[in-house]
Amino acid sequence: MKVRVRLAPSPTGNLHIGTARTALFNWLYARKNNGSFLLRVEDTDKERSKDEFTSNILEGLQWLGLQWDEEPIIQSSRYEKHKEAISFLLKKGLAYRCYATEEELQLMREKQINESSPPRYDNRHRNLTKAQEELFINEGRNAVIRFRINDEEPIEWNDMVKGQIHWKGRDLGGDMVIARRAPADEIGEPLYNLAVVIDDSYMKITNVIRGEDHIANTAKQILLYKAFEIKLPRFAHTPLILNSEGRKLSKRDGVTSINDFKQMGYTPEAITNYMTLLGWSPPEGMEEKFTLEESSAVFDFDRVNKAGAKFDWDKIKWLNSQVIHSLPPEKLLQLLNKLWIKEGWEIPNNEWGVKLSGLIGPSLNLINEGIEHSRVFFESPEIDLNGIEQLNIKGAKQSLRSLFQNLEDSPWDGLNYEIAKQLINDSAKSEGIKKGILMKSLRVALLGTTQGPDLITSWSLLAIIGKDKERIRKCI
Ligand code: GLU
Repeated sequence: MKVRVRLAPSPTGNLHIGTARTALFNWLYARKNNGSFLLRVEDTDKERSKDEFTSNILEGLQWLGLQWDEEPIIQSSRYEKHKEAISFLLKKGLAYRCYATEEELQLMREKQINESSPPRYDNRHRNLTKAQEELFINEGRNAVIRFRINDEEPIEWNDMVKGQIHWKGRDLGGDMVIARRAPADEIGEPLYNLAVVIDDSYMKITNVIRGEDHIANTAKQILLYKAFEIKLPRFAHTPLILNSEGRKLSKRDGVTSINDFKQMGYTPEAITNYMTLLGWSPPEGMEEKFTLEESSAVFDFDRVNKAGAKFDWDKIKWLNSQVIHSLPPEKLLQLLNKLWIKEGWEIPNNEWGVKLSGLIGPSLNLINEGIEHSRVFFESPEIDLNGIEQLNIKGAKQSLRSLFQNLEDSPWDGLNYEIAKQLINDSAKSEGIKKGILMKSLRVALLGTTQGPDLITSWSLLAIIGKDKERIRKCI
């Protein structure tokens, strides 16, 4: 049977790293098995769902390289199907209306707390007589719809990550609500567990892959599958991403949405690489740095860890630096240029941009560091105190003046290692000063300080700054 998996995000916030990791494992599994990766937007929480979050989630997945295969399903468009399913359960006597008010339920819970017993609904309206129901209706009470859960019923499945799992009906907290409160002749808004079962079955999902925080939902959903007599998918519950204290990574840990990572200068390649490593171990012989293509060729749930994984900033940063360092300068330029444009900086031409990208690329861990690392190439720097001291050394300005004159007479645009070396040697010699003094003064003229890249080994720097030879004149 062809593998069909899905991501079912609720558009109540931007694409979160946990959701992105679930998407990634679904995507990898689908690609490995020549299957399909589908999307279902679970927008049934009307108050909190927003179109802008849907766009953010879809764009984020695309940016990460996790393209889906069919038109996304919008869950709210299947509302009537969910209601039909509830109606079926009511007719079969597998579900019933519960008229207990919020106050009554609150009293019940308080009593349970006082007795130190776990919270559960006590199934009080499971077997109401017609007359009792009439009474509640006449009182003007609305009802939720609950699905019967037999306490003794075993719920078992062979999880693709966790192995054999055993639950019992009694672990689920009493008969579960499947539709919100509504007048007794209506069916209220269908709830998550019901909608998921109906939609996963409609979408012919073969494997439900999601975070382990959904295990209790899976137990409930299995009972619904049985009630509808539909074939169960296989389930895989993936380990959670934890913060440094070992708790689920949340908004409180600062950066959690894929947007945040993007803003900080992480590349999609490093994020997907790191997220894969966060719950999966590559087979022996495979390096820790890999592409989506490489991991999808060997991805398997046997190698997914059972325990949660702590988020390690050093590791993701290291992976990011590896990705950046392996980018051809032409590709890096495309990423850097977006940042430069935001700073109001314009590259004189493409070749210049490629050279600069090649020069600073090896020192970047985050794309965004490319702003500070290239500032000096776009903005004439203020000369600092050390720089001023340097320029006051006897002969320093004179040698710069001579260099400038020599530069005027030579093809500045084509400045290369050999030519630049010759120019510096000639200028120092003709003024009778040490080459070191000229080199240091030139660095002040170009960079505003005596610290920084060694001009002798980075002649290309000179060539790049070459677009701004005015800097030397200004300095003089
Ligand atoms: N909408 C649910 C969520 O975002 C989906 C869970 C599931 O995959 O069934 O957590």
